[in-house]
Amino acid sequence: MNKYRFYLCAIIIGVICAFYFVYAGQKDDCPVASNNGQYSYLFPDPMLTTYNMEIYLDINTRTLYGSTVIDTVNTCGKTLEELCFTAYPNAFRNKLDTPAPADAYYCGFNEGWLKIDSLKVNGSKVEYQEAGVLIKALVPLDLLPDKNIKVEMIWRAKIPKLAYRYGSKAGVYMLGNFYPTLNVLSDGDWHNSYNSVFGDPFCFHVASYMVNINLPEAYNMVSTGTTITQLAEDNGRTIYQVKADKVRDFCLLVTYDYQELNQEITGWNIKCYAPSNNIDICSQVVEQSGQILDYYSATLGSYPYPDFKVAFVPMKGFHGMEYSGFIFLREEFLNPGYDKQKIEFILAHEIAHQWCYAMVGNDQLREPWLDEGLANWLANKYLQKYRGYSQPDINYQQGVKLSKQLKEMRSSREYYRTAYEGGEAFWYGLEQELGEEMVIKVLRSYLAEYKFKIACSRDLLAIIEKEAHKDMDYYFDKWF
Ligand SMILES: [Zn+2]
Repeated sequence: MNKYRFYLCAIIIGVICAFYFVYAGQKDDCPVASNNGQYSYLFPDPMLTTYNMEIYLDINTRTLYGSTVIDTVNTCGKTLEELCFTAYPNAFRNKLDTPAPADAYYCGFNEGWLKIDSLKVNGSKVEYQEAGVLIKALVPLDLLPDKNIKVEMIWRAKIPKLAYRYGSKAGVYMLGNFYPTLNVLSDGDWHNSYNSVFGDPFCFHVASYMVNINLPEAYNMVSTGTTITQLAEDNGRTIYQVKADKVRDFCLLVTYDYQELNQEITGWNIKCYAPSNNIDICSQVVEQSGQILDYYSATLGSYPYPDFKVAFVPMKGFHGMEYSGFIFLREEFLNPGYDKQKIEFILAHEIAHQWCYAMVGNDQLREPWLDEGLANWLANKYLQKYRGYSQPDINYQQGVKLSKQLKEMRSSREYYRTAYEGGEAFWYGLEQELGEEMVIKVLRSYLAEYKFKIACSRDLLAIIEKEAHKDMDYYFDKWF
């Protein structure tokens, strides 16, 4: 009998251990620490991280001179010995590695890069290593838990002659991800960016920004956030002071011979920027942006920023690109006769990213379907409800695996098929399972729970099961 009890106890303990390891394993699979109960292990913590930047654009050499001070707190729960940053301009150093398509180099290959001239952490100069777009600072003095961290950088960035999300053409400077950005750390794992010819290779936490931008007075600028002051210097330059709270990135566009059209709609200041000879399109874009923001706000939860901006820019390789409170659309959309439905879809897709990217972040390298699939589904919902378009043909049995990381995808076709079409099909399929009303309830809960944080697939699936009040593995197993 005792022997029987012993074996029974051993089996029970074994089963409990197995469950624990399976659970713990799943936990480790989650790519980002979302919110661990009482103590937040988010690093850099969205509420405790500020960027103060001074930016000077030299038009003659197409160089940005920058200084960045990042103030944050070691909230990762452990001592830090290194800090990792993304320097996206370094993706454009070499012809062989550049993510930009060949036709974006309108006068042949032209290099872009970012060089650090000085890097200090808590007042001490530190050494750093560079690999691709990664900058790893080796901190000699340990950064203890809960202690403040101050990073001071002086840097220069070369802007290539390139019609892309980072580059310049005809006096227009598209400056997405132009500055060194502190990467996300979770459970000792840095979510470092890498150079990818397709997709958005980023994972960043939200932070607050104060940025001074110094430009020649013949140029104007559009950026993430709100311009607080504009000071004309007596040397022919203008300094713009910009404030942006709780944004996932800070994007800057420097324009020449552009016009702005703005309108206040439902309390938001909506602005559209286009070359002066194409400004006519902006009234329609502003009006439609207001309608889209209104629809998503009413459906998902309020748009979080006071301003929303759209700019038409020379950009090959993308139809649109999302930044916090600001989107780029390719200038080809200005050509007469361009497919109207395509433009409306891209506008609705990029605006949807204000909820699934800017507000609730995700690791776009490890789980690109999380923001892209939802942005597609939301854009189609808008087009169906407000523009009278029919639902797209969805192949529910595509056999895609949404768990595929960007680096596991071999082509841009596979990337679009997985993240965009597969992700969209996941949401349409869920709608078939639960009904549209329940899917909206899931989304409202997901966006409220992870607002200004980063979520992973496991967080979303847990919310779906919680709202649906049932085990959904039969559905999830088809997709992961
Ligand atoms: Zn997208």
